[in-house]
Amino acid sequence: MPYIESFQSLIEIQSIQNQILKHLEVIKEEESRVDHLKGQREEKDEILITLKDETVLLEGNILKQESALEKRDNSLETAGKHLRNASTEKEMNALESEISTWEGEKSALEESLINDLDNQEVKLSEIQTITGFLKGSEETLKELELEVKGHVNAENVKIEDLKGRINNLLDICQEPVKRSFVEANNRHEFNSPLALIEADRCNKCQIHLPTSLSQPIESGKVIDFCPHCGRLLIPHSALA
Ligand SMILES: [Zn+2]
Repeated sequence: MPYIESFQSLIEIQSIQNQILKHLEVIKEEESRVDHLKGQREEKDEILITLKDETVLLEGNILKQESALEKRDNSLETAGKHLRNASTEKEMNALESEISTWEGEKSALEESLINDLDNQEVKLSEIQTITGFLKGSEETLKELELEVKGHVNAENVKIEDLKGRINNLLDICQEPVKRSFVEANNRHEFNSPLALIEADRCNKCQIHLPTSLSQPIESGKVIDFCPHCGRLLIPHSALA
């Protein structure tokens, strides 16, 4: 009993599977829109944590420098007083040298402090920008998730319908054809579980096949697989 009609059903099944694949790709693309935004938010979240840590450190540094600067100012004031009251040249020289050292330290401290304050300002402004983005995109994400969910559901409805059609077609296949298709499909679902013999080769994996295999296959009376890729070989007559 030739299997031609069953093979024809398989060809239709494979074409429906390709339609399913397109819907699955749409789903993947839709879901990637959500993933993309989520990824962006996670990235910003991490940057925010780092920035906050950095500003805490900077804040500590700034306070330390401010206090060191205050101490230097006090020391300079005291040294200035002493200088005015200095009686010997030696004493004056020592105090002047001390004052000069401290003034050098003071200006270095001031420079570093200004640097840190500028840095802090930049970081605080970045924190504000990122916080704004995270807040704004939270709403966007919810809307997007809802929109994507709607699209995915619609795609899944179509997929379920196509799967139903596949099951109906499988049901009308002769049992051995059905069994063999399921076997080939387990290995090659959405990747062409069916193959044709063209110029003595499997048209999918290109392995050379002997005439002793191709002749019975083309008669439509035999069910067999490509010995290399495991796809189910179908006769050309089933394509008509
Ligand atoms: Zn093959």
